[in-house]
Amino acid sequence: MRFDVLTIFPSFIEDNPYFKRSIIGRAIDQNIIDVHTHDIRTYSKDKHKKVDDMPYGGGAGMLMTCQPIFDAIKAVKKLNKGPVVFMTPQGKKLTHTRSRRLAKLDSMIILCGRYEGIDQRIRDELVDEEISIGDYVLTGGELPAMVVIDTITRQLPGALHDGDSALEDSFTRKLSGKKEYPHYTRPANFKGFKVPETLLSGNHAEIEKWRRKHLK
Ligand code: SAM
Repeated sequence: MRFDVLTIFPSFIEDNPYFKRSIIGRAIDQNIIDVHTHDIRTYSKDKHKKVDDMPYGGGAGMLMTCQPIFDAIKAVKKLNKGPVVFMTPQGKKLTHTRSRRLAKLDSMIILCGRYEGIDQRIRDELVDEEISIGDYVLTGGELPAMVVIDTITRQLPGALHDGDSALEDSFTRKLSGKKEYPHYTRPANFKGFKVPETLLSGNHAEIEKWRRKHLK
C-alpha cells in the first residue's frame, strides 16, 4: 500500500526511527508499504515560502493557506490515485472498523495540518475523508498520520510475523468486537503473583472459556 504524506515537517516522518525499525520498518523494507513524504512549503509561491496567514474574522492562531496545499495535492495526485485524508480532531474517529476499511485501499494521500488547521476551502474541495485519532488536540497531523499508517500496516498480509495475530486482537470479529482478555507468560509464579490455574491446565476448551469470560 502506498502512502503519500503532505506536511510542513517531512523529517518528522522520514527520520522517525519508528518507521525504520520493527514491524513498520520491516514492512517498508519488504515493500508491503511505501511511504513518501512531501513538504508543503516547497509548493508555496510566497517569496518567503510562507504557508500560513491570519484567519478572516480574527481569532487566535494562524491558518494554513490554500495555495501551497492545493498545489501539493494536485502534484501528488499524479503519483497516488487514492483518497485524500485530512487528519483533524473534527474528523470521524479512527476505529478498528474504519482502519480495516482503509487497509483495503491500494493507496492514500494523508494531509497533515499545523497551526489552527487549514483553510476550509481545501477541506470542501479536495479532501475526501477527515479522520481524528481521538478527542484531544495535538500540535500537528504528523503523529496522527503515523498512527493511521501503523494501524493499517499491521493488517496487511505479511506485515506481522504471525499473520493470524492481527485477527485475534482487540475489536476483531474473533473477539466479538470486544477488547482482549489478559495475557500471562512465564514464570507461573512471579514473586507470589500467580497465573490463573485454568491457563496452566492445558485444557484448551477451558482456556477458551476463561478467555471469553475475561474479554473486556
Ligand atoms: N484548531 C483545531 C481544532 O480546534 O480542531 C486544532 C488544530 S491542531 C493544533 C493542528 C493540526 O493537528 C490539525 O489541523 C490536525 O491536522 C492535527 N491534529 C491535532 N489533533 C488531532 C487529532 N486528534 N486527530 C487528528 N489530527 C489532529
